[in-house]
Amino acid sequence: MQTSQNLSKVLSAINDSARQAGRSAESVSLIAVSKTHPVEVVQEAVDAGQLIFGENRVQEAQPKITALPAKLRWHLIGHLQSNKVRLALPLFELIHGVDSLELLAHIDRVAGDLGLFPRVLLQVNVAGEASKFGFPPGKLLGFVEEIVKFDRVQIEGLMTIPPLAPAPEHSRRYFVALRELRDKLATECRFPLPQLSMGMSNDFRVAIEEGATMVRVGTAIFGERRRG
Ligand SMILES: *Cc1c(COP(=O)(O)O)cnc(C)c1O
Repeated sequence: MQTSQNLSKVLSAINDSARQAGRSAESVSLIAVSKTHPVEVVQEAVDAGQLIFGENRVQEAQPKITALPAKLRWHLIGHLQSNKVRLALPLFELIHGVDSLELLAHIDRVAGDLGLFPRVLLQVNVAGEASKFGFPPGKLLGFVEEIVKFDRVQIEGLMTIPPLAPAPEHSRRYFVALRELRDKLATECRFPLPQLSMGMSNDFRVAIEEGATMVRVGTAIFGERRRG
């Protein structure tokens, strides 16, 4: 009950933010981040109409994906270790956190073995935090020549996690930076990347104002997690 009420609040906030930004509500997808929450709780969100879910650990996600309806679409939002790629590729329709050329090359190779064309986003460490995964924003343009050589991975966009901040407004400049990097890749490298995955429970409204096409929202839908 609580989950479905929370979900409808989040959906209407997405709607409002999109409209205020002069965008259509359909231009923003909600990824309901179900990590740490049991299948019964996820099922409540499914019953309320949610279809796309985000998980950050492959081993945790696998039994949930098996237990829940096949119509659901699963996104991997966390760091992907290379030894989990083979298991992850058939399970997830989109991998948000591809954070190095080595990982991209490995995904491309494994995808070849499995006969898949995985969709991925490149994670960018916009704030340059030592503790975070991601491509350094200044380096990404220089990598494009190598990135376009992979023939299996479908690179659809960029993803970022801004630094923890006391107020949503603090995230704005990082969201702007991700959008501007995306625009630069399109104009200077002819490498168009339509998807921007940015914004979590506390700052998804600001992210939508700055062009997010996917928001990853956990706590605002499912409540607090016992582990993060
Ligand atoms: C956990 C997580 C989220 C969701 O965070 P909330 O603050 O609970 O909305 C979003 N993105 C990533 C990468 C996460 O790991």
